[in-house]
Order: sequence, then C-alpha cells, then structure tokens
Amino acid sequence: MKKVAVIGGGFSGLTTAYYLQKKGYHVTIFEKDLRIGGQCFTIHKGRQMCELGCVFGASHQLLNLLKELGVKNEYRYFYRSFLTMIGKKMPQIENSKIARFQEQYKRLPTVLKQYESILKVPGFTNIPTELTVSFEEWCKENDLDELSAIYAPHFAAFGYGNLKDTSAIYVLKHLDLETLSWLVEGRSLIYFPKGVSEITQKLASLIEDIRYGAEVLQVMGGERVSIRTNIGTYYYDQVIITTPMDQEGIKQKDFARLMGVYQQKYYNVLAYCIEGTYRTTTYFKENFLEEGRLLLLHGYNSESDNKLITTYCYGDINIEQLKSNIDSDLIKAGVEVRNLFAYKRWKTFPHVKQVDLASGFYDKLARIQGRDGIYFAGGLTCFPNMGKLCEFAKFFVDEYFDVL
Ligand SMILES: Cc1cc2nc3c(=O)[nH]c(=O)nc-3n(C[C@H](O)[C@H](O)[C@H](O)COP(=O)(O)OP(=O)(O)OC[C@H]3O[C@@H](n4cnc5c(N)ncnc54)[C@H](O)[C@@H]3O)c2cc1C
Repeated sequence: MKKVAVIGGGFSGLTTAYYLQKKGYHVTIFEKDLRIGGQCFTIHKGRQMCELGCVFGASHQLLNLLKELGVKNEYRYFYRSFLTMIGKKMPQIENSKIARFQEQYKRLPTVLKQYESILKVPGFTNIPTELTVSFEEWCKENDLDELSAIYAPHFAAFGYGNLKDTSAIYVLKHLDLETLSWLVEGRSLIYFPKGVSEITQKLASLIEDIRYGAEVLQVMGGERVSIRTNIGTYYYDQVIITTPMDQEGIKQKDFARLMGVYQQKYYNVLAYCIEGTYRTTTYFKENFLEEGRLLLLHGYNSESDNKLITTYCYGDINIEQLKSNIDSDLIKAGVEVRNLFAYKRWKTFPHVKQVDLASGFYDKLARIQGRDGIYFAGGLTCFPNMGKLCEFAKFFVDEYFDVL
C-alpha cells in the first residue's frame, strides 16, 4: 500500500487525508500541536461557545462534505450593521450610490463571463494578467468601483487584507458569484451549532494515523521522501505540505524556492465577556486599512443570554497594546467589557505578490507537483476559506492520486 504523509492537521490537511484514505492510501498526518483543526478552533465557556477561527460557511461544497460526514449544520441569519468609530450607524452603501451600485452588481456576471472557466477550476492556475492587478484597480478598469462596498467587509474585515493591495484574482475566487449571493442577498449562512471544531474532530476520527506534537522540521525529496520531525525521522512514498513551512526545511530546490515566495498576514482575535448581550455582526469600515484597530465585532446569536463577543484586527502588535486599542474602540462602539476571555494571533492567508502572480507562480507550482515525491496543497494552492479548501482537496486528490 502506498504511504502518504500530510503535513498539517488543519482543515486542509484533514480533508486531503480524508479523500486520499477513501482512495485506498495509507495516510499519516503530522500535526505540530496537541490539538487538531488549526484555524478551526471552538472554545467553550459553560454552555456558551465562541470561535477563535472560522465562524460560518457559504458554499455548497462545504454543505456536501457536512452531509457526507453526518455533521449537522443550521442556517442562521447574521444581523449586520456598520458603525463609525464614534458608534454612529452608517449605511453599507450610501443612498446616493445605491442606483449606481445596483447597475454594477447586475452587470458583474456579464463582466465575469469571460473568466468563467478560470474561476470555476479550483486553485489559481492560468490567471490572466488583468486579474493579477489589485482588486480596486480591476474594478476601476471595469467601471465597477461601487462594488467594494460589498466586497470589502467580507475580505478586509475577514483578515485577507485590503482591496487596494490584493490582486483581483484572490478576491474573485473567495467571493465568487455563489458566495456573494449568500452574503449580499440576505441569505442565512451555514452555521455550526456545536462549533466548527466538530467538523475537524469528526474528520480526525476517520483518519487512521495522526501524530500529534510532531512538528515537521525538514522534508527531503527523493525516491522515498524523508520527514524529519522533533520526534523522529520517517519515510514515505509521497508527502503533501498543506501549510507554510520554513523554506530552509525543504530540501528540494524547486519547492523550496516557491515556499520562499508566500507572504502571510497577522490577524488577531480577541474574545471578550461583556455586560449585556450583543447579537449583531458589526463592521467598522473606517478601520479597514488600519492595523491594530477594530475591524469587526461578532456577537453570538444564541438562544441563551450569551455574553461573549469576538473582535478582529490586523497586525503584529503585542497583546497589551492591542487590548488597549480594542478596549477603547469597544467603548466608542458602546460595548461594556467585563474581561478578555481569549486571545489568539493567527498567521493567515498564504498568498503571493502581484509580480509573482503575473509571472505564473501557481502554474510553476502545478508543473512541479509530485517532483521528488512532494506536493503543495490546501491554502498554498487555493483560496483559504472552508468552501474552497474542501473543493480543492477533492480536486487535488482526483488530479494527482489514482484509485488503488
Ligand atoms: C479568525 C478567522 C476567522 C475565519 N472565519 C472563516 C469563516 O467564517 N469562514 C470560512 O470559510 N473561513 C474562515 N476562516 C478561514 C479558515 O478557517 C481557514 O482558511 C482554514 O481553517 C485553514 O485551514 P488550513 O488547514 O489550510 O490551515 P491551518 O488551519 O492554519 O492549519 C495548518 C496546521 O498545520 C500545523 N502546522 C504548521 N506547521 C507545521 C509543521 N511544520 N509541522 C506539523 N504541523 C504544522 C498547524 O499547527 C495547523 O494545525 C477564518 C480564519 C480565521 C483565522
């Protein structure tokens, strides 16, 4: 039986391992933490819960996976509001711009028609140069500038960066027409009543071989691929890397070179216990370009009197400074904080600069997949949200691994 190692026990590693195992491969997941799930991270406080990572889904691929796993989901409407930093309500789209926005939103499918096949294929291969420019620039060129009102909250506030600096292809892959319609047309979103960790734990329960506390330090490609970890060295027929690693740790020159190109963003989650309840998802538009300031505040719409909220902001900033900033932003937003309940600083969104995209980064990657037994998958190859990651995992396994 072919032995395959998967590096990283987040949603990407778990789904990739799950589909491989279904095809008859013996798969081992190496996970550096003692907890499975990575950015799928539910924590509980009595009968309440909050998410330190993924909160909801908006994709039929994710729904299909949940059905297959027997994990129950609900549909929830997330009440959304937009506040200025002095706590004044503001509209998502200014009244004077609504007619122009509606015209552009209606025209969007026609503009995207020419890219239909590229946008449909999972991952980022064959990107036309005009989609490597920033999303803002692409919108201007296509007279779609009012659309940032609906893209920015679900891109910038979700930790993926601002639309001025991010290539259009990333934004269009994340917020494809299906996802946009879930988010914009007021549909209820896919909600995980027991927390998103139920999904990763269910997947983990189906994987035969997971090594916890096993940090992969070095991968050496060859006839048999060797994996050096803090707990020993192991040999496999093939190795799939689903998470950014130290470039020096990859002893295969083509993959090492590509690993060095990824950039990541720091995205902080601060969960608070508050006085009273807060049940909406509130965006602070004026902060979308700022580091260390409140971008998004999510109150848990639970049946019980839930007093937990999560707040989100960018930056490689120490927790004391961050907490002081967010505390003062929350006061302006009218939220009375009791105490900080949990804090997590994530490194998210492995992406590449416009210049690397334009020189065909992902096509180069596709050409070397499998060389010396090594592959990149997960967020290294597709947009890192739950829907796109599970779609890509299935596509990847079908593309590169025959049924045994
Ligand atoms: C705050 C936040 C909110 C989000 N909200 C949503 C949302 O609402 N909807 C949505 O669809 N998506 C959301 N996302 C995105 C989604 O959660 C992630 O894209 C997804 O969980 C990433 O999974 P992954 O496996 O690619 O990466 P990760 O979850 O980062 O997993 C990587 C794993 O690899 C392990 N690892 C790293 N290096 C090594 C090594 N050298 N050796 C062994 N193991 C290693 C890590 O410990 C980790 O477990 C959110 C993300 C964040 C951070």
